[in-house]
Amino acid sequence: MQRDGTTESLWQHDTPPYRPVPRNIPHDAADVLIVGGGITGLTTGLLLQRAGKSCIIIESHEIGFGTTGGTTAHLNTILDTPYNQIEKDFGEDNAQLVAQGTREALELIKKNIEELNIDCDYSVQPGFIFSQTDEQNEELDKILESSRKAGLDMDYSTSIPVPIPFEKAVVVQGQAQFHPLKYIVALAKAYEEAGGMLFQGCHFLDYKTGDPVEATTSRGTIKAKKLLFATHMLPGINLLSFRCAPYRSYAIAVTLADGKYPEGLCYDLYDPYHYYRTQENGGEKYLIAGGEDHKTGHEENTEAPFLRLEAYVRKFFQVDKTVYRWSSQYFEPADGLAYIGTMPTGDNKIFVATGFSGNGMTYGTLSAIVISSLITEEKSPYEKLFNPGRIKPVAGFANFVKENADVVKEFVSGRFSVSSIKEVSELARGEARIVKYEGKKIGLYKDEEGALHAVNPVCTHAKCIVSWNSAEHSWDCPCHGGRFTPEGKVLTGPAARDLEKLELEDL
Ligand SMILES: Cc1cc2nc3c(=O)[nH]c(=O)nc-3n(C[C@H](O)[C@H](O)[C@H](O)COP(=O)(O)OP(=O)(O)OC[C@H]3O[C@@H](n4cnc5c(N)ncnc54)[C@H](O)[C@@H]3O)c2cc1C
Repeated sequence: MQRDGTTESLWQHDTPPYRPVPRNIPHDAADVLIVGGGITGLTTGLLLQRAGKSCIIIESHEIGFGTTGGTTAHLNTILDTPYNQIEKDFGEDNAQLVAQGTREALELIKKNIEELNIDCDYSVQPGFIFSQTDEQNEELDKILESSRKAGLDMDYSTSIPVPIPFEKAVVVQGQAQFHPLKYIVALAKAYEEAGGMLFQGCHFLDYKTGDPVEATTSRGTIKAKKLLFATHMLPGINLLSFRCAPYRSYAIAVTLADGKYPEGLCYDLYDPYHYYRTQENGGEKYLIAGGEDHKTGHEENTEAPFLRLEAYVRKFFQVDKTVYRWSSQYFEPADGLAYIGTMPTGDNKIFVATGFSGNGMTYGTLSAIVISSLITEEKSPYEKLFNPGRIKPVAGFANFVKENADVVKEFVSGRFSVSSIKEVSELARGEARIVKYEGKKIGLYKDEEGALHAVNPVCTHAKCIVSWNSAEHSWDCPCHGGRFTPEGKVLTGPAARDLEKLELEDL
């Protein structure tokens, strides 16, 4: 399966591309058009189709192309935003509601696996969180107290399943793990068998609200009564572009010389945290480790986080071989909770699901539960809590937006003389760089054949300057997570248009 990066995730390796039933885009309006074929879009499609709604799912590339193909697939009721923080910002009742939602999401995944008989290496696991400093010990005590209050089955533990020194640890029951692509492929099949339509290679461009909503796509107009953006980040510029910050996270899958693979899911308390779990794939066991997250575009050399992660893992584990390494993008919400529900513009025909942090297996599934209820019953117990239009709490929100707002006012265009750009000779094949030309920036890429490609590095979404991601060979926008191929074509994210191609002279 393809993914929005050049590194290969453990999941892609053994998953053949999904081939939907070939058909034409219908003229009649569907009940629901879902944009995005990741865990969120496919789970929602299946629930709605089973509830008697006619659905169309469109996906720019192939299902699993987005972060679902680059996840590490821990299924958690503990979240990146700890319950003490949720309780502080949203109150005790809402912390309980979040916990209830995460449990419901995990139950739905289990139910789908059982009912559809999905062979996706699913197993229920205990989760361990451990502390290594005085400050972390205090944090862990708070996590334990608040998680219990929220209804999680959590207790102190005297041991952890990874050979890492720790001071305190807790264990939480009822977590799980699976192979995410095997799972979504089975969802896609079940969705189609239930009558759902799936179009891959169909890129959403724009929409006109009305009855029905009319979506413009690369394969023509699609009409539907309701529209859901399950694109991880919404296309275009809207309130949520400014309430979510894009982050890049790194993962490796290694074999261990001593065969001591941990049983359970483990997390430390550093920021960003490291995490570990075991996955068996094709008869081989792997330790999956992850971390080294940073804001998109804020790491100059994106090879370095892989090296740091591997060095850190080697300190504690007897690594035999690093077999897979991959990175992917997630979106951090301004106030710590996902945005799930109707579009903040007040148009109740348009739905969104985003801001999942590193918990989108759970949140993507919970989004399916919430949004399918909102569509079929016009209500959900989670409607208010996850409302994308909420403005409370936004402590630190101003900083959050400012940090992202690396916007330029100066545009470049026209033709460039290669001979006057001294960095050209320094670029290796397959490498790219932002270079200065007469005081203005251009994005220069030398392909594997040695041919040069130049783009205007101003993101077509909100005019920020893109950065080169050397690990995944893409131009990534630090503001809202727009991503482009080395030649400037839209890969994923909110931008609708490709980067402007610039003409080079003297080639
Ligand atoms: C390294 C890493 C590890 C993670 N580990 C975990 C974990 O252990 N547990 C967990 O719960 N979460 C984890 N997450 C988060 C989780 O993987 C994501 O939140 C989740 O996969 C998002 O799913 P999605 O379906 O919403 O989006 P995606 O999987 O990104 O799917 C969106 C789809 O929409 C398509 N699309 C986008 N724009 C358009 C358009 N204009 N037209 C048509 N299609 C479009 C894309 O091609 C893509 O396929 C991790 C994230 C990262 C980066």
